[in-house]
Amino acid sequence: MARVALVTGGTRGIGAAISRALKAAGYTVVANYGGNDEAAWKFKAETGIPVYKFDVSDHTACEAGIRTIESEFGPIDILVNNAGITRDGMFHRMTFDQWSIVLRTNLDSMFTCTRPVIEGMRERGFGRIILISSINGQKGQMGQTNYSAAKAGVIGFAKALALENANKGVTVNVIAPGYIATEMVQAVPEEVLKTKVLPLIPVGRLGEAEEIARSVLFLAGEDAGFVTGSTLTVNGGQYMT
Ligand code: NDP
Repeated sequence: MARVALVTGGTRGIGAAISRALKAAGYTVVANYGGNDEAAWKFKAETGIPVYKFDVSDHTACEAGIRTIESEFGPIDILVNNAGITRDGMFHRMTFDQWSIVLRTNLDSMFTCTRPVIEGMRERGFGRIILISSINGQKGQMGQTNYSAAKAGVIGFAKALALENANKGVTVNVIAPGYIATEMVQAVPEEVLKTKVLPLIPVGRLGEAEEIARSVLFLAGEDAGFVTGSTLTVNGGQYMT
């Protein structure tokens, strides 16, 4: 039977590419999303991938959503914690709401989405947990103290969780994308992209969501069992760790 994969924020951008790639590789894929019903239904119609709306920053909603998914499709063996948001602003002008929603969506979600699946993975002796961080969690970014803090936190979380589960067949790895052509990056003004972002990327272009998806496929595989606690940077050479 095909293994079941849950991709949070799996209906748009990088997450949608991950969902599609996992499905094409034969996994049973379920995509979560936060609130954009129109995009989710369009994605579902195009791909046939079932979509489930729940807020990854809400622990109770995640527990309920994941239980429903598991009752319908079977235990989740592959979890891709991808959902994320930005609310940029210089720290000296940042509101607590800007801080808090980014920390809750990008970092609390590591708890809320992973906690309901980890015990089952340990019991079954197999699990692949793949977390989407960011180059800006590795190097910091002006205007993104909230986002950089959350995304750096993801890397610490992965290392600790990898240690706890290494002898149970459960791997935990991070992918840290650089600038990828999605709506999140299209929100950056074109002039800023051209003059400030592209010159920093040695490969000379933005990344494609499919390039992140291919990294997920590798980490999700049966034969990637010796890779755990690692951070795979996929950023066109912009920042080397
Ligand atoms: P998009 O904005 O294109 O898509 C975000 C997805 O996450 C959507 O499916 C959205 O659902 C979902 N989402 C947002 N908030 C919630 C929530 N509270 N609960 C459930 N789902 C939610 O983002 P990207 O594809 O660009 O980014 C995906 C991940 O990659 C993020 O973690 C981001 O930080 C990271 N990343 C992106 C980079 C880039 O260059 N694009 C670079 C580095 C990292 P809905 O459609 O309902 O809003």
